[in-house]
Amino acid sequence: MPRFEPTFTPTISYVRSLRIGHLDIWCEGRNPQSGYRCGRYKSLPIEGFDDAVTLVSIASRLRCEGCETVGKVDIRPAWDDAPAQRTSGPSETGWMTPPAPRK
Ligand SMILES: [Zn+2]
Repeated sequence: MPRFEPTFTPTISYVRSLRIGHLDIWCEGRNPQSGYRCGRYKSLPIEGFDDAVTLVSIASRLRCEGCETVGKVDIRPAWDDAPAQRTSGPSETGWMTPPAPRK
């Protein structure tokens, strides 16, 4: 799973350059009732955002509909939107599925 380098600040322009039209957002707040990580997921279209807007600034303004936490989210381009660039085998998507048992 790609991770942003701390020095790299992705912008809407960057997301558009990847031909990705949405952002994947997961809430990292805690549910006030259960105390567990909220984890609510939202897909946010980037239409309507200016190119220069950074993902960090978007994240800082988001309020979770589940736990009401503001600005505490994991935000990243929706890689599933990107044009397929599959050159190798199924291990590329391994993070979504349980690892295959070793033989
Ligand atoms: Zn939440």
